[in-house]
Amino acid sequence: MKKTAVLLISLSILACSESKKPEKQKSSQDDAFNQFKESLVTDMWKLNPVWASYEGFHEYADQLPAPSPERKAEELAFWENIRTVLDTFELDRLEQGNQIDYYLIRDQIASSKFYTNEYNSGEWNPSSYNIGGAFYQVVNYRETSLESRMESISKKLQQVEDYYHFAKENLKIPTKVHTELAIQQLEGSLSIFEKTLIDSLEASRLDENFKKHFVGINNDAINVIKDFITYLKEDIKPSLEENAKSFRIGGELFEKKFQHDIQSGYSAEEIYRFALTEKETLHQKMANVSATLWDKYYEGEEKPADRLELIRKVIEAVSQTHVHRDSFIVSIRKQIPELEEFVAKNNLINLDPEKPLVVRETPEYMRGFAGASISAPGPYDKNAETYYNVTPLDHYNEEQAESYLREYNHYTLQILNIHEAVPGHYTQLVYSNQSPSIIKSLFGNGAMIEGWAVYTELMMLENGYGKGVPEMDLMYYKWNLRTVCNTILDYSIHVNNMPEEEALDLLMNQAFQEKSEAMGKWRRARLSQVQLCSYYTGFYEIRALREEMQQKLGDHFSLIKFHEEFLSYGSAPVKYIRELMIKKHQTEEKAS
Ligand code: ZN
Ligand code: ZN
Repeated sequence: MKKTAVLLISLSILACSESKKPEKQKSSQDDAFNQFKESLVTDMWKLNPVWASYEGFHEYADQLPAPSPERKAEELAFWENIRTVLDTFELDRLEQGNQIDYYLIRDQIASSKFYTNEYNSGEWNPSSYNIGGAFYQVVNYRETSLESRMESISKKLQQVEDYYHFAKENLKIPTKVHTELAIQQLEGSLSIFEKTLIDSLEASRLDENFKKHFVGINNDAINVIKDFITYLKEDIKPSLEENAKSFRIGGELFEKKFQHDIQSGYSAEEIYRFALTEKETLHQKMANVSATLWDKYYEGEEKPADRLELIRKVIEAVSQTHVHRDSFIVSIRKQIPELEEFVAKNNLINLDPEKPLVVRETPEYMRGFAGASISAPGPYDKNAETYYNVTPLDHYNEEQAESYLREYNHYTLQILNIHEAVPGHYTQLVYSNQSPSIIKSLFGNGAMIEGWAVYTELMMLENGYGKGVPEMDLMYYKWNLRTVCNTILDYSIHVNNMPEEEALDLLMNQAFQEKSEAMGKWRRARLSQVQLCSYYTGFYEIRALREEMQQKLGDHFSLIKFHEEFLSYGSAPVKYIRELMIKKHQTEEKAS
């Protein structure tokens, strides 16, 4: 295989660097390491053309590797090779950015093994065989001509049959909820083949012969997918009445997946325990604030004796203060400069973006859920804008819009903007782009990214944002409680066998969520595992690190320095950032 050749090249680069003078060794190790990273990524794309397409790398867009046993073996061998090369580098001789990349690659090797050998979702999750996106990514990539994209797609279509042959072979005993999801998603994906591809074909300048040929193989592919859907509906689904796999992955697997996905310094169980304590603390704080607000909103009425009831009623009243549905986007757009001003005035972090954040209406193809999100340019598309997508409420009826606006009321909307934009996700992104690393953008740590955004909500309020208005505090606590309860829910469902009733009670009665939100979360928590823990875990670890540094540095601690140094390491697991920050601090101490 070609990739072995590339690996050998990187090994020989290393061999050269060994003979150089000590002073130069550090940089030559880094040079070799940088080349190793590049060849690693190039080889990885050959092996994972679909993942590559999602990241914006389209050289292998005509490939659709079948999930065969050979492929599994190939993948394991690939990472084994990577380990061999990685072992030749001396961690201490790499610069800090590369030290983190070293860790990330090392963890990625372990994670790939875990996913292939132990997690094995190909055996129980039929929705892992949804190839709609693999085609959509290619047809939608506008940097190459439509004609060449259609040619790639025609080759890719011919691999669909082989793909589903192995998909059927792999499936053992699926879970019900993943089987239902697969049927729903695959049926949805058909429109990509039946409509999107055909529309694109017609719009192209390819000749009639090609078009005829394309329609033929496209129909074959559609039939294969339909056959797979029928197989799920008629063979798999009925058998699940008696013999389905549980969607609960259990303590052992959850703990391992947590280690691989979250890369925390704590175990899942420890984080779960912290979250239980935090929920109690938040309830206490919320009850106190609600008590002070009671007379303002319920003058003359008797205060409920039940703590949760008191909180719920005050939240209900405070949520009435919200913008009009037509000014939702306008008010978000107006708020970004206000947040920037607050951050600058209070010396919280320097904001020096090369490009301003563009607030826009979420493009049609990305809609589906209402809400807000940040779209960052991918590693191969550096010059693209960073967007703050806000979905307008025009497809909502009066009642839906009202419910949505109560959720994103006057106070919560500000917290949302802190989280998504300034100084949350957008600010973190600006910093991580200052030290670009392909490894960090591909294997970056979701818990750190989400944790930072959640941390900034707290940090802004600590520094006087919202001017101590009790309503703001209450809504912040509610928002933070959602993060905390996501962790409790995730762990409880998968490890402690929490039943649906208890899950809904947790979300609706203890986290004050609407029924529709709670139902959606119950579904999501059964379909995914661990991801819902990422927000709280990252938040917990960042807050703890700040405390640790505060104690170490005493009077010399500076909040702005802490923030800028923390972010300078890029989207890395907090435990590695901590390790390097402490090391750096110790060296500085010795020097002074
Ligand atoms: Zn209203
Ligand atoms: Zn977020």
